[in-house]
Amino acid sequence: MDARLEAIRDTVLARNPGEAEFHQAVVEVFESLGPVHDRHPEFLEAAILERLCEPERQIIFRVPWTDDAGRVQINRGFRVEFNSALGPYKGGLRFHPSVYLGIVKFLGFEQIFKNALTGMPIGGGKGGSDFDPRGRSDAEVMRFCQSFMTELYRHIGEYTDVPAGDIGVGGREIGYLFGQYKRITNRYESGVLTGKGISWGGSLVRPEATGFGTVIFTHEMLKTRGTSFDGQRVVVSGSGNVAINAIAKAQSLGATVVACSDSSGYVVDEAGIDVALLREVKEVERGRLKDYAERRGGVSYVDGGSVWDVDATVALPCATQNELDGDAAARLVRGGLLAVGEGANMPSTRDAVAVFQDAGLLFGPGKAANAGGVATSALEMQQNASRDSWSFEHTEERLTEIMVGIHHRCASTADEYGQPGNYVLGANIGGFVKVADAMLAQGLI
Ligand code: GLU
Repeated sequence: MDARLEAIRDTVLARNPGEAEFHQAVVEVFESLGPVHDRHPEFLEAAILERLCEPERQIIFRVPWTDDAGRVQINRGFRVEFNSALGPYKGGLRFHPSVYLGIVKFLGFEQIFKNALTGMPIGGGKGGSDFDPRGRSDAEVMRFCQSFMTELYRHIGEYTDVPAGDIGVGGREIGYLFGQYKRITNRYESGVLTGKGISWGGSLVRPEATGFGTVIFTHEMLKTRGTSFDGQRVVVSGSGNVAINAIAKAQSLGATVVACSDSSGYVVDEAGIDVALLREVKEVERGRLKDYAERRGGVSYVDGGSVWDVDATVALPCATQNELDGDAAARLVRGGLLAVGEGANMPSTRDAVAVFQDAGLLFGPGKAANAGGVATSALEMQQNASRDSWSFEHTEERLTEIMVGIHHRCASTADEYGQPGNYVLGANIGGFVKVADAMLAQGLI
């Protein structure tokens, strides 16, 4: 790493002790930014990096609620409003027991660059709670969401901060959150949240967008090597919203997705995952992959273990951070891997990324490859602002244009900085320069 950046990195790490995932995200970005500072010494003089690493505002709050047995439960809520140089803070809410400040800050930091790469007018933010929705009734989830919004409402707004979903937050949770916001503020402010239901201000394609976008980006990478998704053997990790839609899109382009996973195990389905059945089990019944395997028949279900033990030509990690380590990466490379597209945020460890890059593989980092979700959230905001709703075809066309544009921006930035094919460098520099220019223009704030 560039020596000038090393000193800033050390300060950032020391100022934010115990936030391992945030440190990881910061170091990964800093490793790309040396050459930018050679060309733009004004960024160093204006302390752009130091400012970028310090969120504009961090909110931590108590979320009290009662469970179905009448017992009082207490969770912790977060919203980190990281950077508003390009637009209102934008980013999802994650409800998962692993959530703490370090996770929210890593996600919020990534979101700044991701949102910049989309070319849409959105800043970066993220939030969530250590609440675990699994096994909770709809009524419990509703009471939790209402309590969460009873604090959050005062910090958000169409022009201020626009939350959406992430792990553990889907259409059901966004509905309860929106209802409570409307009730407290007495405003039908559609643009305050994205991922809404289609009949009350949501956008078509938003549910599919992250998974579809990841496949579109990966397809663009494959084209640079004269190939495509057609005939590829694909392994996807996860079986939530991002994974399911990545599987659907990859198969629609002629690939066979032979495996996917959940937190208990993975399924190997050589004929290609049955997307309709997977949606039924996971989205309608909120069931487990084991149920899919039993109902599908003729497939193998592996309890525990790693889905990365299955050979593939394309890997799409769509579960969670640090789910694919250096050993798994080396195994995948030995098994004939060509390309990796990250549907999740930071699913590959730093060791894994190094293995993929050393092997000369196509590697699309999450902040570029999974930007389709937030980009379509920005399209939802556009539709809300004009009180319009677009067709599926039109919205999907816009999503495709945006993903192809992100691929182009990453690839051309990597070329410009003398590292063709390095999408990590292209994404980090491409996103950073846009935000840094806007920060300079807006003065010391
Ligand atoms: N949570 C998603 C992400 O990681 C989407 C955020 C949004 O739509 O605002 O980008």
